Amino acid sequence: MIKVVKFGGSSLASAGQFAKVKEIITADESRRYVVPSAPGRRNAKDVKVTDMLYDCYAAAEAEEDFKLKLKKIKDRYDSIINGLNLKVSLEAEFRTIAENFEKKAGLAYAASRGEYLNGILMASYLGYAFIDAAEVVFFDKNGEFDAEKTDKALAKRLKKTERAVIPGFYGAKEDGVVCTFSRGGSDITGSIVARAAGADLYENWTDVSGFLIADPNIIQDPEVIKVITYRELRELSYMGAGVLHEEAVFPVRKAGIPIHIRNTNRPEDEGTLIVENTCHHSRYTITGIAGKKGFVAVNIDKDRMNSEVGFGRKVLSAFEQNGISFEHMPSGIDTMTVFVHQEEFEGKEQQVLSAIHRLAKPDTIDLESDLALIAVVGRGMRSTRGTAGRIFSALSHANVNVKMIDQGSSELNIIIGVANHDFETAIQAVYDIFVTTQL
Ligand code: ASP
Repeated sequence: MIKVVKFGGSSLASAGQFAKVKEIITADESRRYVVPSAPGRRNAKDVKVTDMLYDCYAAAEAEEDFKLKLKKIKDRYDSIINGLNLKVSLEAEFRTIAENFEKKAGLAYAASRGEYLNGILMASYLGYAFIDAAEVVFFDKNGEFDAEKTDKALAKRLKKTERAVIPGFYGAKEDGVVCTFSRGGSDITGSIVARAAGADLYENWTDVSGFLIADPNIIQDPEVIKVITYRELRELSYMGAGVLHEEAVFPVRKAGIPIHIRNTNRPEDEGTLIVENTCHHSRYTITGIAGKKGFVAVNIDKDRMNSEVGFGRKVLSAFEQNGISFEHMPSGIDTMTVFVHQEEFEGKEQQVLSAIHRLAKPDTIDLESDLALIAVVGRGMRSTRGTAGRIFSALSHANVNVKMIDQGSSELNIIIGVANHDFETAIQAVYDIFVTTQL
């Protein structure tokens, strides 16, 4: 059995956190490959090392004195080294970093040092080999991640290495220039390592006990989701639940490896298991509820729209030409509604409207702003009658007017559009009818 374990920044923010991590790793022999983030925040007012590095490099690039800022970063690592009595020194590494900052080695190089240095400390603390991600995670000439080349090189390297630490977040191009993934990208590295190692499980250790059924800012103490499928997670994450980097799903999903979200500070908690498929029935009909405010509905009407070939394409090309992606598109016989993000749309509103007029020649276009979309997601809905009925009677009891309903044919989700000001009430009503009343 092989497990790849990734630890987030808050799990590695101090010597005390490192000690918890070691205990977790050594409790299970199969935890052979470790992917660390850079040290995160130790408390609410603290700054992540990655942000300190960005800031320090900005000073170097502006030809300002950056030495004091770099010293503060070194202090963060030294406090971990001293707290754990490690026999390792980062003096030479920091000299090299300072030289490379003088030479303007690049923002990605600068940011990547957070994970790189933490990896060195973690490897020393665990007695594991250290593998620099720049040697095994590859980006192409355009800075795009090269999945196949990486998988080959990394698999070969891991075969020869029984236990190793591979820092998250970065890799390099063929010429050695360092590149990073987007923020939070150590999750992606963990997934890449799990695929290359042929792991049985990818454990992602963070500071929460898994995905919650609903946003805790809206619902008091929502329950943790025990098992969720990749598809359900996509439906929920795209509406804004941010525990795992969205891109982290792809490498392991392809390889059929489940992801287990766990809490470093509460290792006794079960966490959330993300799987391709499962016969595990969730306790409730729904798996989760997520949503977002700030949408505009663009309603386009045209008589006999249904018989006009290419009408939809013409409408959508008006959005495409203006670089606006759409979120949902429910339609009627003579009407079509396109939901877009208000923020993205506002600045380009008139261009889009005139493009729709020009291309699709509709009778009328109507706009409705300040809308919210709520996704009610659950594999359990497929086999249960009356789910939609329960949602809508709950919403009507809560006095929420439903502006839009969209159910995918997969029966995995029902999307509901409501006014922004009804957003919280609607989520509470749906949560109550499926979860609270079932307890
Ligand atoms: N340290 C990087 C960040 O703060 C990457 C990560 O933690 O996953 O975004």
